[in-house]
Amino acid sequence: MDKVKIKIWGARGSLPAPVYPDVVEAGARSLFDEFFARGYSRSEDVARFFSEMPRHRLGGYGGNTPCAEVRYQDTRLMVDAGSGLRALSDEYMAGPCGQGQGEAHLLFTHFHWDHLIGLPFFTPLFIPGNQIHFYAVQPELPEVIEAVFKKPFFPVPLKQVGATLHCHRLEPRKAARFGGIQVTPYQLDHPDPCWGYKFEAGGKVYSHCVDTECTRLTRQALGPDLPLYQGVDLMAFDAQYTLIETIAKMNWGHAAASIGLDLAMREGIKRVLFMHHDPASSAEKIAAAEAQARRYYESQIRASTGQLHKVEWSFAYDGQEIEL
Ligand SMILES: [Zn+2]
Ligand SMILES: [Zn+2]
Repeated sequence: MDKVKIKIWGARGSLPAPVYPDVVEAGARSLFDEFFARGYSRSEDVARFFSEMPRHRLGGYGGNTPCAEVRYQDTRLMVDAGSGLRALSDEYMAGPCGQGQGEAHLLFTHFHWDHLIGLPFFTPLFIPGNQIHFYAVQPELPEVIEAVFKKPFFPVPLKQVGATLHCHRLEPRKAARFGGIQVTPYQLDHPDPCWGYKFEAGGKVYSHCVDTECTRLTRQALGPDLPLYQGVDLMAFDAQYTLIETIAKMNWGHAAASIGLDLAMREGIKRVLFMHHDPASSAEKIAAAEAQARRYYESQIRASTGQLHKVEWSFAYDGQEIEL
């Protein structure tokens, strides 16, 4: 049976967040200190020592803005063109797109800068012969793409990029088929607005729910968008803030992990990846938010009398791959 593969190329939200060299150096020093403090001394011990370290001590969560990929059999779909798209571009260039004989399919959730800034760095766009397809529910898709390449914001106007471009409008809550993958857009709770996607392939379901504040929580309030959260094997969900921050930043369009966990426990979502981490958050702060969410999840499961489902979940990082 073929697997559905999901890769998070950018897990950060709002703005890229590269790590300063002094932070990398301080992290390396603290790892060396701990290596010896734990009684290790040989190079053969390094792999074991690393396996004992949490994610935030080993490079953190990454700094690229949202870009994800869903693959099944020969079909390859991209979601959003955040700065994570630049590295994905290299993979496309190593295939038929490098010779001007490829095609690419990119779905947009919405057009905030953090979901667009990688687009001019998707090199297959500049190779004549490639067919590049863009998709969105929002009718302004063609104007948005053109605006990204408009002078003086970018030196090459859209008419001169080389590849043949196609814009497609998706119907809200209507399934579209891409090879073996079926995709249905459902509305999220985010300004301007924003659409999540439910991907169904090979009997597996991936729901991409970024960016969202998820102000509609009950089944009744979610109404026609409830299917986005039902029958789901893996959900990517917005966790830009801690629960306290969501109160201070109400109407900013982002959620906390506990909100996604409530949904997942109620609807039986098997696994959740939390992303769109705040650009101002250090790896330690994201890890603290993860620990806070862990306490919340465990208390909810303990208090549940069987009506809540157990969920496997974690905070996503750039480059993370999951197979369903
Ligand atoms: Zn965003
Ligand atoms: Zn946004």
